[in-house]
Amino acid sequence: MKIVRTRSSADDITYGGVEPEGIRLYRGTPFVAWEPTEVVVPFEETQLLSPTIPTKVVAIGRNYAAHAAERDAVVPDEPIIFIKPSTSVIGPAATVRIPPHSRRVEHEAELAIVIGRVARNVPVEDAAGYVLGYTVGQDITARDLQHRDGQWTRGKGFDTFCPLGPAIETEFDPQEGQRIVCRVNDEVRQDGVVSDMVFGPAELIAFVTGVMTLLPGDVILTGTPEGIGPLQDGDLLETEVEGLGLLRNPVSE
Ligand code: MG
Repeated sequence: MKIVRTRSSADDITYGGVEPEGIRLYRGTPFVAWEPTEVVVPFEETQLLSPTIPTKVVAIGRNYAAHAAERDAVVPDEPIIFIKPSTSVIGPAATVRIPPHSRRVEHEAELAIVIGRVARNVPVEDAAGYVLGYTVGQDITARDLQHRDGQWTRGKGFDTFCPLGPAIETEFDPQEGQRIVCRVNDEVRQDGVVSDMVFGPAELIAFVTGVMTLLPGDVILTGTPEGIGPLQDGDLLETEVEGLGLLRNPVSE
């Protein structure tokens, strides 16, 4: 199923499931317990929000060989991980803000894993059981600050630097070689295949949960394929993973 989080009026934020005629609202959350209501809201009467509110986003560096090469970096022999703050997350149609601190903000289209239950020291063979589903993500990066600082907290951590959505697909199998595409103003910038990852989702879950506990709703951003490039005021950023839908975000100063 496709799980979304929606606002259908100012005070009414709820999880829902996508159905042909609209979004069926649920009581509770998919991370604890939930049940469908009788209410189905037409798509045009809802606003989609980020489909999860993570306590943290753990992101993976250089997880596609061709992207490592374009940055003159080597493919690591174990995953490189860093954290994007929960406050960087925005949802579909929300605006990516270019901060005045940076002169080079770039897109990184990424497949996002959404964790479904408390995960600590998870073996590779059990990893799939901890996944609620997958969604589309962006690891927006102030490249100049990433280089200048020598570590990545500022360059990766600005508010709005982690668009997620539109939905969490629970039936997605990343082994199937789905395309991951990033377009800026209709120009294709990135066009990769998620199965080209150096470390696949199960290995990443095992590695990350060997370091830190992942909580329900937490996200692993799995790295970006080649083709990263700049974003500017007025751009329209579109990120799409086959089977997961289209995440569309305007860019503004
Ligand atoms: Mg990235």
